[in-house]
Amino acid sequence: MVYENTSNTLGLVSIVGAGPGAIDLITLRGRDALREAQVVIHDALANTDLLHFCPAGVEVHDVGKRASSHRATQEQIHALMIENARAGKRVVRLKGGDPSVFARLSEETAALEAAGVPFEIVPGVTAACATAATLGVSLTSRDLAPGAVFVTGHECASRAAANPVDWTALARLNMTLCVYMGVRELPAIATKLLAAGMSPDTALTVVSNASRPNESARNGLLSDATAFAAEDIGQPAMIFIGAVVAKEFASAGISEVGTRILTRP
Ligand code: SAH
Repeated sequence: MVYENTSNTLGLVSIVGAGPGAIDLITLRGRDALREAQVVIHDALANTDLLHFCPAGVEVHDVGKRASSHRATQEQIHALMIENARAGKRVVRLKGGDPSVFARLSEETAALEAAGVPFEIVPGVTAACATAATLGVSLTSRDLAPGAVFVTGHECASRAAANPVDWTALARLNMTLCVYMGVRELPAIATKLLAAGMSPDTALTVVSNASRPNESARNGLLSDATAFAAEDIGQPAMIFIGAVVAKEFASAGISEVGTRILTRP
């Protein structure tokens, strides 16, 4: 759905989910938006090989350079989208995974709405789903997990103050916990889950670079989580905790903690 096309002189901002990395995991609609793009504003996680879909002469802004002091602020990103749309251009705001999952979508749509700029949202394959496919697990399972939770492992100071994650409640849910941005915090998260009564034998896996050629997984138990943090885990990485992971360990004949290089068929 395209929101508020109030003026013919305005361009359109397509907020597109790039998927988890493999370029053939973008949607056809997302690819078509890239084919028509005059301006692309992309994050660090979006695979830049996707830019090959764009017409020659497209203007590209990398607003996700992490370790750079020149990293764009959220306000600069809003201004860039609004300015270009007001100039009548087709803008693609390309984000890793799905734009509605840990991607500041509501801030960007609020800014576009306030500016009266028309926009559309094109969903993408979120990292949890790509990781489930990589591992061959089902996030939900009739007998093992009545649901799955997408939760951040990284609580920035403001978010922690306003709306902290209740790990004690999550420990009791019996659902698959899919922890985004959590590798650095894994020991602290595991400590909280164990303190809340989650079994130390609960299976855990950390998958880095799901859907990319260098994807790999480290498996273990909740009680091993401290050892995990010491290891060199590639980025980006997703943590799964729960019974569906144990089932996958069993079917793959995995009994110990270890790294597996996952091979694609
Ligand atoms: N909007 C994105 C999430 C952005 S938050 C999405 O829907 O996937 C960034 C976090 O996503 C990373 O810290 C990591 O936890 C996860 N992530 C993104 N791509 C990933 C990949 N290919 N493999 C594993 N985890 C990934």
